[in-house]
Amino acid sequence: MSTVAIPAMVTLARNAKGWSQADLARAAHVSQGFVSKVENALADLHGEQLAAVAGALECPVQLLTDPALVQGLEVTCLHHRRRHSKLTSAKKRQIEAVTNLTRITVEGLVKGIEIVPDARLHRIDIDAVGDPAEIARMVRAAWRVPSGPIGNLTRLLEAVGIVVVQRALGTTAQDAVSTWPADPDHPPVIVVNTGLAPDRYRYTLAHELGHMIMHILPSDSQEAEADAFASELLAPAEEIAPELAGLRTRDFPRLLALKTRWGMSMAALIRRAKDVEAISDRQYREFWVQLSQLGWRTREPGDVPAETPQTLRRVIETHQREHGYTVEELAAAAGMLPASFTRHYAESRPRQPTARLRLVRGSEPQP
Ligand SMILES: [Zn+2]
Repeated sequence: MSTVAIPAMVTLARNAKGWSQADLARAAHVSQGFVSKVENALADLHGEQLAAVAGALECPVQLLTDPALVQGLEVTCLHHRRRHSKLTSAKKRQIEAVTNLTRITVEGLVKGIEIVPDARLHRIDIDAVGDPAEIARMVRAAWRVPSGPIGNLTRLLEAVGIVVVQRALGTTAQDAVSTWPADPDHPPVIVVNTGLAPDRYRYTLAHELGHMIMHILPSDSQEAEADAFASELLAPAEEIAPELAGLRTRDFPRLLALKTRWGMSMAALIRRAKDVEAISDRQYREFWVQLSQLGWRTREPGDVPAETPQTLRRVIETHQREHGYTVEELAAAAGMLPASFTRHYAESRPRQPTARLRLVRGSEPQP
């Protein structure tokens, strides 16, 4: 392994912190000009200065020097288009960097572990099918999802081999990013921002799944398509229409009950009611006025059970139990320092034993 930093990795680790070159220079006690030269491959970063920069970035030196890690990042397909207009370019770079570092972590950790999905995740051509809702129905059928609400959407996605990771993206203007791997043998990854209410988290996962299945190149209609996909996946029109029939504008107790049952926000259910023509345009507008007056557009009442991704936790447990990995070794595999690895990934201790990672929809892991 080389002991000179790779320029692109320094930029990546710096962007993940949301730092400018001046910020990094200050934290590492080097000049801003030097950081700029390093990132433009005009100066070598090695020795004590490399250690200082890695220390400031709170990452292992290896993350900055290992050429294997940088491979593939450029061909990784990132979907992060939600509410882009609100994002500064610095924030966009930070989100992208956090996502790429998370992919490095995931790929480092899953190495040497056989992940056995219960079904395959395939792309479906939106131009050929035409209707995102139809694609959502195709997905439900292909994955043999029972009719009615999806009890645990995270488990469903994990069962088809998607690794879901909750990480702070450094902004509230972005809920998630999904990425396809450069290497088809590696897992697709969805990074979900921390701090989302459980109903919003579920909708976000469904929306990102829509992007992963339907979208390769950016288009003007992709957000509406991902939303239409998410709504139909979570609450198929045919099934939810009878439950929304006759909804009155002030009928919040009924919406709260439906929220718990379908794991969708009242706001999403109201949009669904309009989609399936259970309410008129006028009622729809009245609902929004009421939600605003009640202050529910930012925070709704009602409970949806929180979902927690399991795949990465089980990968870590398997390494610890089957391979005898220490936290230091796991952190090294993840491209992280032990302290931040523990904080992000190993806070909860292993409990149930698992030998092989068989992913089964809708049931507990089988040993
Ligand atoms: Zn989107």
